Amino acid sequence: MKEPRMDQMRFPGGLSKALTFSYDDGVLQDKRLVSILNRNGLKGTFNLGSAVLGKLEPNAFGGAVDITRLAPGDAPALYAGHEVAGHGLYHSSLTAIGSGAALYEIIEDRKRLEDLIGGMVRGFAYPGGSYSEDAKQMLKYAGYEYARIVPTTGTFAIPNDFYEWSGTAHHNDPNLMQLAHDFFEGDKRMAFRAQLFYLWGHAYEFDQYDNWNVIEDFASYAAQFADSTWFATNIEICDYVKSFRKLIYSADASRIYNPTCITLWLANRRDVYKIEPGETVTIKE
Ligand SMILES: [Zn+2]
Repeated sequence: MKEPRMDQMRFPGGLSKALTFSYDDGVLQDKRLVSILNRNGLKGTFNLGSAVLGKLEPNAFGGAVDITRLAPGDAPALYAGHEVAGHGLYHSSLTAIGSGAALYEIIEDRKRLEDLIGGMVRGFAYPGGSYSEDAKQMLKYAGYEYARIVPTTGTFAIPNDFYEWSGTAHHNDPNLMQLAHDFFEGDKRMAFRAQLFYLWGHAYEFDQYDNWNVIEDFASYAAQFADSTWFATNIEICDYVKSFRKLIYSADASRIYNPTCITLWLANRRDVYKIEPGETVTIKE
């Protein structure tokens, strides 16, 4: 009896780490955030409610922070190279408005955002973080591939259920830089597993707490690890992982067939394998 093999997913290029960002509401402060990401070669996802773009959101914090939404016409250029995802047409809680209105919120938002950016919108962040099994099903039927929730894990896990995608941390997590250090420079034995660092928040919070240094420091630190980390949007990671999970194995797992249209990578203790679309590789013992 041979020893059981330990195949692990690798990200494109055979990398074991990926980093992504998810920022909500399409606020004016996204301009500054996008410039920080771009300067550092990082990629993120921006969750927009198309019917409230250009509007001043009533300030829920009672403070002076401006949470005006970006003018719709500014979105395509600002978010070029990043992902635009849905956040509900009017940012209504999907669990509070009845299924008909919830369906409209997610389908009409998807259509308008696609018209706005001239592309596909397949990601989502639950407005106010509210979700249910019905909401998850509706998103699936409406053509969304994943949806982000609010609670974070403090880990670098890749989700089993992409319709309940938890981030690693919110940027106000007091342990943020420790987590980042653990991720990029921690125990190398852990690096055998594919790991994802997923950071989320709202860009207006940097004004609210006067802490733009948090994201400046995080982004410039992460950028040092460009050679060993896949900097990707949420949908790129989701598409990649879902494709990886479609790999077909022979009975003894010595042959692996890639039925998808994406080049996939995996590793065992000995080697890293690249499997082209339509290719079957034989794993060396
Ligand atoms: Zn929101």
